[in-house]
Amino acid sequence: MTDIAPLRDFVLHFTRLVDRDLPPLALQTEGAALLRDLVEEDRWLPDAFARPHPEHYCQYLLHCDPLERFSVVSFVWAPRQKTPLHDHRVWGLIGMLRGRESETQFVREADGTFSATGSTFLEQGDVASLAPGVNDYHQVANAIEDRTSVSIHVYGGNIGGVRRASYDPATGQEKVFISGYSSDVVPNLWDRSLNAKAI
Ligand code: FE
Repeated sequence: MTDIAPLRDFVLHFTRLVDRDLPPLALQTEGAALLRDLVEEDRWLPDAFARPHPEHYCQYLLHCDPLERFSVVSFVWAPRQKTPLHDHRVWGLIGMLRGRESETQFVREADGTFSATGSTFLEQGDVASLAPGVNDYHQVANAIEDRTSVSIHVYGGNIGGVRRASYDPATGQEKVFISGYSSDVVPNLWDRSLNAKAI
């Protein structure tokens, strides 16, 4: 059995962080440090939230703040799975828990089309950030050919309910979507009889 305590601690500390009402950049900087601690060790994510699907990548809700100020999601990528080019419209943090991802950033040109500005690889333990108006357009892929990769994302809203868009980079054509989540259950953070570690 996994020990869920690191995720419970993360949720507690992130809730305290958003309670401070910091400007977005400061919130992201401090939040990135919390996320770095969470993904440093890969021992807490229950298997049900790390399960790939053969046909598409999965996004499992791990926690949503009751006021929907932030959400925590595990993204699970089987080999060769990738997102389309998309936006978020809220700030985001990506922490690499398992495997390796490639992230390609895009800018929107005056004519509405998109140009790639570069690709980076996220290795286990790395954290990257996204912000509307700064770097909100990207495409993400599993960068390992024969293994599942898992990343933990934190967003400044209930990301599964945010109305946002994917794009055809060549034409700029926009397709509105609301992603939802891959499961209708979330991990139980609160059973303190299981290997309990008091907060
Ligand atoms: Fe994204």
